[in-house]
Amino acid sequence: MSIPTRHFDALIIGAGGAGLNAALQLATADIHVAVVSKVFPTRSHTVAAQGGVNAALANVLPDNWHWHMFDTVKGSDYLGDQDAIEFMCREAIPTVYELEHAGVPFSRLDNGKIYQRPFGGQSQDFGGDQAARTCAAADRTGHAILHTLYQQNIRAKTHFFDEFFALDLVRDKEGIICGALVLEIETGEPLLIEATATLLATGGCGQIFRTTSNAHINTGDGCAMTLRAGVPLMDMEFYQFHPTGIAGKGMLITEGVRGEGGFLVNKDGERFMERYAPRAKDLASRDVVARSIVTEVKEGRGAGENGDYIYLKLEHLGADVIEKRLPGIRESSRIFAGADPVREPIPVFPTAHYQMGGIPTDRFGRVVIPAKYGAEEVISGLYAAGECACASVHGANRLGGNSLLDILVFGRLAGKDIIEYVRANPHRRETDPVSLEQAMARLTRWERKGEGVPAHQLRAEFRKCMEDHAGVFRTEEVMAEGYQKLSELRERFKDARLGDQSKVFNTARIEALELENLIDVGLAVAVSALHRKESRGAHSRPDYPKRDDVNWMKHSLYYRDGDRMDYKRVRTKPLTVESFPPAERTY
Ligand SMILES: Cc1cc2nc3c(=O)[nH]c(=O)nc-3n(C[C@H](O)[C@H](O)[C@H](O)COP(=O)(O)OP(=O)(O)OC[C@H]3O[C@@H](n4cnc5c(N)ncnc54)[C@H](O)[C@@H]3O)c2cc1C
Repeated sequence: MSIPTRHFDALIIGAGGAGLNAALQLATADIHVAVVSKVFPTRSHTVAAQGGVNAALANVLPDNWHWHMFDTVKGSDYLGDQDAIEFMCREAIPTVYELEHAGVPFSRLDNGKIYQRPFGGQSQDFGGDQAARTCAAADRTGHAILHTLYQQNIRAKTHFFDEFFALDLVRDKEGIICGALVLEIETGEPLLIEATATLLATGGCGQIFRTTSNAHINTGDGCAMTLRAGVPLMDMEFYQFHPTGIAGKGMLITEGVRGEGGFLVNKDGERFMERYAPRAKDLASRDVVARSIVTEVKEGRGAGENGDYIYLKLEHLGADVIEKRLPGIRESSRIFAGADPVREPIPVFPTAHYQMGGIPTDRFGRVVIPAKYGAEEVISGLYAAGECACASVHGANRLGGNSLLDILVFGRLAGKDIIEYVRANPHRRETDPVSLEQAMARLTRWERKGEGVPAHQLRAEFRKCMEDHAGVFRTEEVMAEGYQKLSELRERFKDARLGDQSKVFNTARIEALELENLIDVGLAVAVSALHRKESRGAHSRPDYPKRDDVNWMKHSLYYRDGDRMDYKRVRTKPLTVESFPPAERTY
């Protein structure tokens, strides 16, 4: 098979914050790096991040990285690895300053320092008063960060393949990953990119659910490629539903609204969060607030004609604060909810938002799988960073503002580690033709003609099924039925067909390729959820309402082969400080 081939030292799949921060390290160190992105880089989902990025700078209220670490461990419902969490919280401070120096236009305090707002789950002094830890550029922080990183990469001469879709990883004859087969969306032609090191930075998988805050492109492609390469995904049952999506639509209304003083009320105008989280109220952790909203609606206190949402009120903040700190929210609310928050409340309901789990990595972005006797084996040449990866800093529930932090810290570290790896492994690896053929088969299968289920119909069915069977509250019965339906869908997918088989800019073909990834990743979520028989963080089971530290203080690993599960110990020992033992989580 003759396919045009390009060679690089490093291949990065994904141009969000994680991919671009990794690429910047590499390009600056004169490593020959290629970044592949299925959309123009600045359209990656990072651009949509609103509220901000956490770092204990203590610009507004007293703060300290130990408190940030404590909040993150507690927020994770004690499932996050404390060594990685400590590392991230310490690195947060230099990371934000590095961004500032690279040109990110943060909002400012009167004294000129970076503006910081309170966000959910933040405290001072190990669970004390509310902290203000989230560094913000109005409510367009991700936009500011992504554009700055892109410009810096252009300056450093990173090589971009814009609008190229990665189909699958490829291996050499020894079985070592040596790049990926990609598809140029414009021409529909394949291209093989060989590289010494490959970093997956493909972002989240929110599109597995029907109602989501995620962009159309967040289809879990990197996670699915990893599964197909025989590597498990970790902690996939922990999927975060953000409490405040625009009701019935899913677009995000940032937690920053509540950070600035907005609050939730039910149809009777009651501030119901006072009942569920007496201290933190509307700024309790996301899983807590999302469950409270769903409970209010289920118990008949929802607003609107069908009683199926609640209200987010911010009129009392005044037009000036809203215009200065939350301009994007005002615009979204006007367009998508028909409500101007300066005058009326925004109708909201939880929306699928963030995958806590993903490709298992260590804190250097290296993909690791469990080896014998509790050790870990590093997969040579394969890295992952950002939302698709699980360095295990979010455990069972991520705190707002910790994801931009995660992608920046671990993207940067992965970049640094790849520099060393590339220098230590100067020999070029050649793709095994068998591996290339397998990757090509993913593409050519869509050339089949004849009768079959239309791919787009399956996509809609699949996303509805995930929403109905793997949502905020999960019981054995509902999930088992969901698994059954998803398995059938996976079978029917084998017979799916495309109506349009042209090559040039065939977006239906791209969506069909994405659908295969969605199904693989959705099954990882559903199967992992079915197996975890406890309630922890975002995984809430009315049939097992309590957290079970005796049996379930462990990470789950899902293998695509036979929908198999395995488990791995949580690393509770941090790097330099004392660990935080599991305690009851109250807000
Ligand atoms: C609406 C919204 C608001 C948010 N607000 C905040 C916030 O305020 N604070 C916070 O900390 N977090 C926030 N988050 C979460 C955070 O923004 C994301 O987790 C983070 O930006 C993900 O970054 P990433 O680099 O991993 O991936 P992304 O930014 O999603 O980028 C993924 C990249 O991978 C590429 N890609 C994917 N698949 C392929 C393929 N097959 N071939 C080629 N390229 C591919 C895409 O083109 C893209 O370039 C928010 C998320 C959303 C959805």
